[in-house]
Amino acid sequence: MVYQHNPMFNLILFGPPGSGKGTQSENIIAAYGLQHLSTGNLLRSEIAGQTILGLKAKSFMDQGQLVPDEVVIGMVDNFMNAHPEAKGFLFDGFPRTTAQCIALDALLKNKSNEINVVLALEVSEEELVKRLLGRGLTSGRSDDTNENIIRARIQEYNDKTTAVATYYAQFNKVVSVKGEGTVESIYADLKAEIDTRI
Ligand code: ADP
Repeated sequence: MVYQHNPMFNLILFGPPGSGKGTQSENIIAAYGLQHLSTGNLLRSEIAGQTILGLKAKSFMDQGQLVPDEVVIGMVDNFMNAHPEAKGFLFDGFPRTTAQCIALDALLKNKSNEINVVLALEVSEEELVKRLLGRGLTSGRSDDTNENIIRARIQEYNDKTTAVATYYAQFNKVVSVKGEGTVESIYADLKAEIDTRI
C-alpha cells in the first residue's frame, strides 16, 4: 500500500513590524483553517509565564533586537510538533533571518512538506512608525511606545529580515502585496493570491 501524505498549505506572511501581519493573519486563519504561528505572540506568552525562555527573550525584545535564532527555532519546532493535526501553518513574524529560513525548510522537509508561498506586505517606513506608535497607545506593548525602539526594530528588519525575501525569491515563492489601504482591500488582495495556490 502506498502511504498517502496529506500535503499541508504553508504560508509565510512577511513584512516589517507594523505592516499588518497580525491583523491579516486573523482574517486568513478564520477563512482557511490554518494554524497561526506568531513567534511574537509565543514569545510574549513565554514572558507572561515567566519561563526561562521568556526571561532570555525579554531583554532582546525590550531593545527592539531579534531574539537569538536557536531560541526561536526551538520554540517553533515545539509548536509545530504540538499541532500534528494542522492543515497548514500561517507563519507570522517567522522566519526573520536566513538561518531561520534554513531551519524552517528542514523542519517542514522532515514532515514531507514545504513553504507554498511568501506573501510580502509592502508599507512605507513613515506609515509603519505612525501605526506602531498608534498601536502603542492601546496595546500595552512596551516596544510600541518608544520611537527609538520602533526605529531599532525597523533597523533589524532592514539589516537581517529582508534577507528572508531574498532567500525565498530564489525558489520563486515571493509575492508582493500592497500593505496600505483598508484592512478589507488588503485582505482581498491576499485572498486572491492564496486562492490561486491552495
Ligand atoms: P512586530 O513584527 O510588530 O515587531 P512581533 O510580535 O512579531 O512584532 O515581534 C516582537 C519582537 O519579538 C521582535 O521585535 C523580536 O524581538 C521578537 N521576535 C519575534 N519573532 C522573532 C523571530 N522570528 N526571531 C527573532 N526575534 C523575534
